Amino acid sequence: MRLAARALNISPSPTLTIDAQAKKMQAAGVQVINFSAGEPDFDTPEHIKQAAITALKKGMTKYTPVTGTLELKQAIRQKLKIDNQLDYRLEEIVVTVGAKHALYNAIQVLCGVGDEVILPAPYWVSYLEQIKLAESTPVIVPTKAENNFKLTPEELTAAINERTKLIILNSPANPTGTVYTAQEMAALGEILVKYKIYLISDEIYEKLVYNQIKPVSIAALDQKLKELTVVVNGVSKTYAMTGWRIGYAAAPLAIAKAMADIQSHCTSNPTSIAQAASVAALSGSQEDVSAMVAVFQKRRDFMYQEVSTIPGVSCNLPQGAFYLFPDFSAYFGKHFQGKEIKGASDLASAWLEKIQVAAVPGIVFGDDRFIRLSYATSWEDIKEGVNRIKTFLTCLA
Ligand SMILES: *Cc1c(COP(=O)(O)O)cnc(C)c1O
Repeated sequence: MRLAARALNISPSPTLTIDAQAKKMQAAGVQVINFSAGEPDFDTPEHIKQAAITALKKGMTKYTPVTGTLELKQAIRQKLKIDNQLDYRLEEIVVTVGAKHALYNAIQVLCGVGDEVILPAPYWVSYLEQIKLAESTPVIVPTKAENNFKLTPEELTAAINERTKLIILNSPANPTGTVYTAQEMAALGEILVKYKIYLISDEIYEKLVYNQIKPVSIAALDQKLKELTVVVNGVSKTYAMTGWRIGYAAAPLAIAKAMADIQSHCTSNPTSIAQAASVAALSGSQEDVSAMVAVFQKRRDFMYQEVSTIPGVSCNLPQGAFYLFPDFSAYFGKHFQGKEIKGASDLASAWLEKIQVAAVPGIVFGDDRFIRLSYATSWEDIKEGVNRIKTFLTCLA
């Protein structure tokens, strides 16, 4: 086989792999507790499903414009205005096959050979691979747990050089649940404007925030910053619509146009009926969202409290998304059945094999002291899973 360098260079999404492995074990009758899920466990709200059924029955089964239907783009425009104080023209909005696709297109448009992309770690794993697919160089900047995994202005400045083209920020963040304040965003934004560095702001978890926190859209802070920013969002996480594959980007016209041109040769439009469903999601009642967020918050509090009872494990209280990201390094160097636990990857493998708990080791996100525990699962599973982990760890020699 003679594959291209870019194919040889790429790794499959490990989060999807672990989730698939857990589901396979479940299907085989094994009682797996799955903390690896990267999606809400709720069903898509009924009125959204109905909108897709109506669209289907009305014969909305043909190509739509590449960058999305007028109805959906208007709904997105309105959403950005009201929720984010961002004013975009319709031509500056591109509807994509999930937010992942918006990120991919934006990176393809902005980055090429010789360009450096700043990626604060822990990072979402697909950013890294998408940067590599664009033949650019990821510059990973580790953040500190004591800074709540936030990139500081000093860390940002130190990472910049004349090859720096882009930075990717994700707030609320996967895997840490970190949410930047407006002030913290503004401090970073000032530096980006000064050095004219593009910014992709991944806001996919925007609505999944707790304790009345209101995340800010960084592009709304400053007009010059907006001219450098691609805002990425989508319906997957907010409306429990991961399978529908609808995301979107809002960007300065030249960027949006180039993204649309690439898309016109790759996927054409995202699925027509999923677009109709997304109009209902964005424009319809938001009551289901509030209900889901309330449940997530209760589970977060519960899982955080349970994890806090494990000796030696430290964990920040996440402010958004649906993951806990505890530090298990106190257990490194201990042994399990004669084998040394060297990092979180060894722990996560042992958990899946011996106590049937699936979770994603931090190495996937750039720091192997941590393990991501998703609480997009039932209360009973949270209780049982954390108990299994606790028993396992306290038995290590
Ligand atoms: C889930 C996720 C996405 C992708 O969402 P889709 O719209 O389903 O493609 C993007 N960014 C982060 C950080 C995510 O966790």
